[in-house]
Order: sequence, then C-alpha cells, then structure tokens
Amino acid sequence: MLEINDLCKNYGSKKAVDHLSLKIEKGEICAFIGHNGAGKTTTLKAVAGILAFEKGDIKIDGISIKDDPLTCKKKIAYIPDNPDLYDYMSGIQYLNFVADIFNISLKERQEKISRYSELFEIKNELGQLIVAYSHGMKQKLAIVSALLHDPQLLLMDEPFVGLDPMASFKLKELMKEACNKGCAIFFSTHVLDVAEKICDRVAIIKEGKLIKSGTMEEVKGDESLETAFLELE
Ligand code: ATP
Repeated sequence: MLEINDLCKNYGSKKAVDHLSLKIEKGEICAFIGHNGAGKTTTLKAVAGILAFEKGDIKIDGISIKDDPLTCKKKIAYIPDNPDLYDYMSGIQYLNFVADIFNISLKERQEKISRYSELFEIKNELGQLIVAYSHGMKQKLAIVSALLHDPQLLLMDEPFVGLDPMASFKLKELMKEACNKGCAIFFSTHVLDVAEKICDRVAIIKEGKLIKSGTMEEVKGDESLETAFLELE
C-alpha cells in the first residue's frame, strides 16, 4: 500500500531524511519511532504529499505521489501532530467541508459524523467554533475528519499526544478496525509500549536514516521494544 524508495529531503545543508526506503502492506500497522528531530514528521509530510523532496519516490497503492498527487491524496488521510484547523469554522462546518472535498454523500457523512463524534465525545460541541476547542478536542475533530472517506492509508503524527485515556483507547480500537478492513496505518510515536501492543511492524529512524525495520518480532526479538530501541542508540 505504501512504498517509499530512497527518499531524501534536505533543509538547506541539513539532511532531514537520508536515503530512506520502507514498505507497508494493506492491513498492516507500522510504528515510526526515533529521537526528536530524527526525521519522522518530514517523512510523514512527504508521504502525505505536502512536502516536496529532492530524491526518491513514494508510491501509494502503486501510484507515484510525484506523478499523480490527486489520486494518491484521495486514498490518504493525514493527521498532523498539531491540528491546525480553521478557527472560525464550527466543528460541523469543518467536517462538512472535508466531506465535500472527498465527495461524500449526505447519508454517508451523517452516519460517520454521528458515529465518530459520539465515539470521541465531541458530538455536543460540533456547533461551537473551533477557536473555542481545547487541543484534545481539535485532535479528536481531526481524527473524525480523517475517517470520513475511509482512507486506504492513514498517516498520523504522534496521534496519542493530548488525547485523554478513553479517546486513546478508542483510537487504538478504530486503528485495529480500519486495518482489519485493509487500511494500512503508518504513525509516529514516542509511546513505545502502545506501539508494541498494536503494531505489526516497526521502523526506527535515526538522523534521517532508517536503522532498523521489520515485523515487531524481528525488530525487538524477546526484549521489549523500549529495550531494543534504547540498545540501538
Ligand atoms: P520530533 O520527534 O521532535 O517531532 P521528528 O523526528 O518529527 O522530531 P522532523 O520534524 O522531521 O523530526 O525534523 C528532522 C530534522 O529536520 C530536524 O533536524 C529538524 O531540525 C529539521 N527541520 C524540520 N523542519 C525544518 C524546517 N522547516 N526548516 C529547517 N529544518 C527543519
């Protein structure tokens, strides 16, 4: 579902991502871990098609994001680490705006908005302007909006930061549900015990280079993911 080949992204002389290659199949959940500044956000933004890169290619379901970004973006949802939504829209206006972009029928959007906003306990706040939302509420709204078009590839940058324990639990359940339906999930996290519990695969990045990747068992062996990660440093 996702194929990254020899990705390179520089900021001036800084090599943020350095010859990174990675594959994630349909139905797999892959954690992307690494120190602060390792290159996770940069990689996720390149995959989401919102950051140009110098070298390499990224294919979503076999289609290059460079050649056909629009087709790729129809298959993707991206939840950034800091949900920067439109402050002067209400929650429901924002969700309808996203549903319009993805051409989602009235019936389908109503069902999904109702289900997911109830699940994340923001249904009663959807009439409020986003400017009045807390960080966690914005994060929940971004998650609901990302699920409206049933993405085939879900990209998330530190999705559990700022979520309350109930919302974190529900997000993990939804991630499992989505991958059971064939969605591939690629997300960055510093919460290694969560990654260990819910992921099939893990990719470890250090100073822009992928230093280890594979199934969870291949990467961590008999140790905890935390121990395996710390040993690589
Ligand atoms: P964190 O875990 O702290 O979120 P990260 O792994 O997501 O970190 P990135 O945000 O991808 O790391 O940053 C990778 C490198 O690129 C860092 O050295 C960072 O300073 C640099 N960098 C990121 N964005 C820019 C930018 N817009 N201009 C210049 N350098 C940048």
